[in-house]
Amino acid sequence: MENKSKNMTVVGAGLVGSLWAVYLAKAGFNVNVFERRSDMRLNQSAAGKSINLALSFRGWKALDDIGIGDSIREIALPMLGRTMHHLDGSTTYQPYGNFDQAIYSVSRAALNAKLMDIAEKTYFANFHFDMECIKVDAEQGVTHFVNKKSNLKLCKQSDVVFAADGAFSAARYNSMQKLDMFDYSQQYIQDGYREILLPANPNGSYKLTKDSLHIWPRGRFMLIALPNFDGSFTCTLFMPFKNHTHCFENLKSKKQVNNFFKEVFPDFFELMPQVAEAWNEHPLSSLALIRCFPWVNKNLVLLGDAAHATVPFFGQGMNAGFEDCSVLWEQFVDNQYDWNKAFERYQLKRKPNTDAMQDLSLLNYVVMRDKVADNDFLLLQKVERRINFLYPQHYFPLYAMVSFTNIPYKTALVKGKEQEELIKKCIIAHQITHDSSLEDIDNAIHVLVENGLIHS
Ligand code: FAD
Repeated sequence: MENKSKNMTVVGAGLVGSLWAVYLAKAGFNVNVFERRSDMRLNQSAAGKSINLALSFRGWKALDDIGIGDSIREIALPMLGRTMHHLDGSTTYQPYGNFDQAIYSVSRAALNAKLMDIAEKTYFANFHFDMECIKVDAEQGVTHFVNKKSNLKLCKQSDVVFAADGAFSAARYNSMQKLDMFDYSQQYIQDGYREILLPANPNGSYKLTKDSLHIWPRGRFMLIALPNFDGSFTCTLFMPFKNHTHCFENLKSKKQVNNFFKEVFPDFFELMPQVAEAWNEHPLSSLALIRCFPWVNKNLVLLGDAAHATVPFFGQGMNAGFEDCSVLWEQFVDNQYDWNKAFERYQLKRKPNTDAMQDLSLLNYVVMRDKVADNDFLLLQKVERRINFLYPQHYFPLYAMVSFTNIPYKTALVKGKEQEELIKKCIIAHQITHDSSLEDIDNAIHVLVENGLIHS
């Protein structure tokens, strides 16, 4: 493949645009990445914001496929399960899997900076900052920008334009959304989120166990915390904006914030009595799902949030965006380096799966804020984990399919629902309770196997 003459434009140097730049530049394409913001690597305060994300199998696969997984592992902290913090201050723990399977907490800024460094310094992609894309002429492969500092306009001609400019993609909005037969929907949920940094102890140690994702499930709302390398945790409060007893609208003053935390997260308040002072350090933000199709218009292709922004409750937005990169690359190789064929197969293959990923994200909000504290759900998970332990090659719980495999999201969604029904029936038929012995649970599972409902 002679790639040097092929000029590629990537719009957006976020997580997905930067990773895709690595894929292209490593293969020898001439890559130019245009980013609206200034270079985050020069801005220490942005890099220190410690907003983090959960990286799981699909993301790792996309990184490993291009040979950069190990350098990202240096900045990733494993979380082996969920620790639930109940109102009375007690905690319970659920491992994510049976075999030390983990999802990984990684700083958004550190990950983004590292991907840019690899693309730029190892594979010679060219990054241009303060360059805001205004529109793309898909037919001609011309991308139009304005320099945010000088206000000067600039055009860039290239063979293909990859739009990875996020949920509110200008490339999509100005160059696809107005086309005939372009499907588009945008759904805001009624809940918003606010991040809060729980600092380390004065000696730098963690205030909570660091190998867990911590959740304070409270029915209609929840607080979560993911560890950072410096001993701090990035916590996120998800809650309705208004019209609920507990909602952001009712938390305007420091006194209201303090009373709220004392009442609903008393153990957290003990760890962070200064929470009201930190309240405004991060903005209150909204959450939306964006669905659209097609993702390809001539020489313009959508990737990541620009194609399928989701709510963050399954921790899959970035992972799915990274999977876009590995799938698109796979299609390119499988189709003898023919971009047009690759684009068509990429969008047909990905769309049903990212739709399912978005459905899963919404479903998991209910699981996280509510079901993880529900006894029936915990029993179901206990039986599932046991089946997965006994038949690790044949049975994967829904969470495991999504987070620890690259089984297509749609298959995971359908299979997950079937499995849930099967286990519910098994629990009822065999009168399994939290007090049942392992032997009783195993006997019930063997009946499922004998009946061919689980393949051994
Ligand atoms: P973005 O990260 O939005 O990057 C887009 C880039 O394009 C930005 O750098 C932006 O400045 C630039 N840009 C925008 N417009 C223009 C323009 N006109 N011209 C040039 N450049 C432009 N996902 C997970 O997998 N795991 C998680 O745990 C997780 N947690 C999350 C928690 C929260 C609170 C939220 C909101 C999201 C979370 N996500 C998570 C989702 C994840 O953040 C996104 O899916 C991911 O950032 C998408 O990457 P992207 O590169 O497509 O878009």
